[in-house]
Amino acid sequence: MKQIGFIGLGTMGAPMALNLLRKGYAVTVYNRSADKAAELVQAGASLAATPAEAVSGAEVLFTMLSNDSAIESVFYGENGVLEKAGEGLTVIDSSTVSPALSQRLHADLGKRGAYFLDAPVTGSKPAAEAATLVFMVGGDRPVFDAQHALLSDLGSKVLYMGPSGSGSYTKLAHNTIVGINAIGLMEGLSIATKAGLAPEQFLQIVQAGSGNSKQAELKGPKILERDFSNQFSLKLMLKDLLLASDLTGKFQLPAPMLHAATTVFQMGLSKGLGEEDLAAAIQCYEEWMNERVEKKGGQ
Ligand code: NAP
Repeated sequence: MKQIGFIGLGTMGAPMALNLLRKGYAVTVYNRSADKAAELVQAGASLAATPAEAVSGAEVLFTMLSNDSAIESVFYGENGVLEKAGEGLTVIDSSTVSPALSQRLHADLGKRGAYFLDAPVTGSKPAAEAATLVFMVGGDRPVFDAQHALLSDLGSKVLYMGPSGSGSYTKLAHNTIVGINAIGLMEGLSIATKAGLAPEQFLQIVQAGSGNSKQAELKGPKILERDFSNQFSLKLMLKDLLLASDLTGKFQLPAPMLHAATTVFQMGLSKGLGEEDLAAAIQCYEEWMNERVEKKGGQ
């Protein structure tokens, strides 16, 4: 049985680790806030007290953490992953982080004889639960080939994108589209609401028409139900857009749509909506137009 360490049991990490257990892997979990590990331990996982402990005996270590600074502390901090990582270990990081950090991990793990894949995912909490994530992977091709079957146990599509950092580049370019799509949906819904249309009727047209998107499918119903429970938090969406902005700065690439979408999520964050689902950014538009975007009923 393949021994797997799993660090980061948040919205995405917990269902991913649970799916690994269900598929018959032996899983050792670590989470900074230990209470979030309880459900996994009940389902049969072993509990590690530190990131280093989660590496012990593992052939593969997954990490699914918020951002660059979480990765820094889990890998480079006291009792961190790098203290234990050695020959034969493959680390698969599915967090969305800067490509530069992915490349640094690849180099630092390589010095210890360990392998590293940056393997971010798309598909939100429902896809993590259903094991239908889409993995975009950067790293050394033979390492990717060796882990393809494992990744396929968590996802419906697993694609090799190129050398180390390529997965993270892919993810930031992809989430630029996600953020812009989400704001586009909110603007369309706001215009429809202001015009006196029933937003639920309008959403049906969008979903059947050429304005459709995954965001319209996933976030449209959440907005109309005023269900801002977190699937992908507004603060993490903003984090991705800011990382993408760093890239456009580096590439000297004008990206006006990216910057417009970033500004709306920044406003949402300053309204205190950071922990809510990114769909909560609709509340910015509601404030501007002094009207709620919600189901009207009838029609
Ligand atoms: P989340 O629910 O906020 O979970 C974040 C995890 O990171 C938690 O386990 C948290 O531990 C841990 N963490 C944060 N700071 C830490 C630190 N300094 N040291 C140790 N652990 C730390 O986030 P998520 O939605 O699962 O997302 C995880 C990653 O996947 C992010 O990079 C996100 O952008 C990406 N992603 C998310 C989605 C989505 O739809 N949610 C989809 C694709 C990709 P605690 O429990 O102790 O806070």
